Amino acid sequence: MPKPKPDPKTKPPSQAELISGLAEVLLRPACQSIDFSYHGFRVNGRGYRAVVSAVSEGKIHLVISDKALRNNALAGFDGVDTIKFAPNFTFSAPAAEMTLVHESTHASFAVQYPGTRMSTLNNEALAYLAMTIYNRLVPPTAQDPWTDFTGLWSSALSAAKNVRRGAEIDETTMKTITDGIMSDSRVQSELIGTPTSNFDGLPK
Ligand SMILES: [Zn+2]
Repeated sequence: MPKPKPDPKTKPPSQAELISGLAEVLLRPACQSIDFSYHGFRVNGRGYRAVVSAVSEGKIHLVISDKALRNNALAGFDGVDTIKFAPNFTFSAPAAEMTLVHESTHASFAVQYPGTRMSTLNNEALAYLAMTIYNRLVPPTAQDPWTDFTGLWSSALSAAKNVRRGAEIDETTMKTITDGIMSDSRVQSELIGTPTSNFDGLPK
């Protein structure tokens, strides 16, 4: 996801801190309460727990990149088995937590649905939806105010706010979110050339 808030003064977390920091966010009530599905792809607490297990078993790798990520993203999932973090990644901001939820949503598909494909745009939409719901469910003082998001992005975020627990995402909601994504040239550039995401990564 775009939207870094780098703080050059803090040093990046160690491997152990990355693993425990990710688990802490994914096992929080806010993340464990995320629950929706789209065409058989379920995003819920069980999926995030599966990511925590896969990370602790070394099946999903957490790596700090030695150079900036594309679009200056805070993190990215490679579609197989690795979440890469920006060199300046820290756990200190709401944006960092939402990034963890976002990338872990992609990772949960690799863990739960190996050998399947989804359009990259829909995959991104579900990850943005999950992090939006997470941001709504954490205590208000820990929420990101979304001030960086305008125009179509704001309508995408409002659509996400109306998704009820356990919901099947309908095509209208999906389109509102994907239109929001396509209104952002930074995200758009990531989607060019990768029309589908493959989850070849983790056999059960
Ligand atoms: Zn993404």
